[in-house]
Amino acid sequence: MPAIHPSQWIRPLQHGLGIIGRDGEPVFHIDATRASTTVVVTHGHADHARPGHKHVIATPETLAIMAARYGDQFAEKTTPLPYHERMRIGEIDVCLKPAGHVLGSAQIVLDHQGSRVVVSGDYKRKNDPTCAAFEPVKCDVFITEATFALPVFHHPDPKTEIDRLLASLTLFPHRAHVIGAYSLGKAQRVIALLRQAGYTPPIYIHGALTKLCQLYQDHGIALGSLQAATAGKKGQPQDNLAGQIVIAPPSALSGPWAKRLPDPLIIMASGWMQVRQRAKQSGVELPLVLSDHADWGDLLATIDEVSPKEVWVTHGREDALIRALAMKGITGKALHLIGYEDDAE
Ligand SMILES: [Zn+2]
Repeated sequence: MPAIHPSQWIRPLQHGLGIIGRDGEPVFHIDATRASTTVVVTHGHADHARPGHKHVIATPETLAIMAARYGDQFAEKTTPLPYHERMRIGEIDVCLKPAGHVLGSAQIVLDHQGSRVVVSGDYKRKNDPTCAAFEPVKCDVFITEATFALPVFHHPDPKTEIDRLLASLTLFPHRAHVIGAYSLGKAQRVIALLRQAGYTPPIYIHGALTKLCQLYQDHGIALGSLQAATAGKKGQPQDNLAGQIVIAPPSALSGPWAKRLPDPLIIMASGWMQVRQRAKQSGVELPLVLSDHADWGDLLATIDEVSPKEVWVTHGREDALIRALAMKGITGKALHLIGYEDDAE
């Protein structure tokens, strides 16, 4: 029996990718942006993992992250699907593979009617000691993000960025080094990379990071000694934080909390820090280019590895990627999915 083209059974719907049954109705959604019946969730970032669905299927780690953020009642029913295990939803075979983006992040491998479609979710290929590494899966259609899909985006080796941070600490031993990092994924990755580089003193964390750092530690991710960076009283700097590393959500960097730290040196860990203008505008003294997304080279290398006939691009900068794919003889298609931010990285 000849394979039925996947566009017959997977397509962009109003609030995310939908898998369509024989009757033309959605069997399930992927990362639905509005409350839906059955949803497979790729990872715990808020724009992909929303509360209020009837039934959520995701890795046990992603379900734990959703429960930590939204409370245990975030869905009527949950089904944990560990990496590499298979499950049938309607007539579709579903399997989750590591995406290397944050703890529990998954690509969704869909086998149906003789074709294989892989939905990458957000992903990266560079070193991250806090989650399982991306596993390339050969497929007919690869559905990819394109957050950094321009040839100018090249993310350096994370180790060189961590070395720059440690060099600054040596150079300015009395300044509190305050790093803005998103609370899910980036914060824990910065801590783990520092530990990997041999940095052993306690690392101070803003209260907004406590719950997720604890969750990572409960899942066996070693983060070393973490201590609360409680803000000092107005006008009183926290002298014990001089020369220490403090991690906070980016929103805390510009507020009064950061100003109370001793001579704070403002640092931001983000893929966007390659764009000098962004760093300057947000008053960042030491920009660290640390991204949880694939850069241009890794996007193309990944597509070569999974060798698809077609690549569909969910969100981000699709034009350059689709042109580059055409030169390789691969059909590219923009899905223009909305509701997925590319800032939270
Ligand atoms: Zn994400």
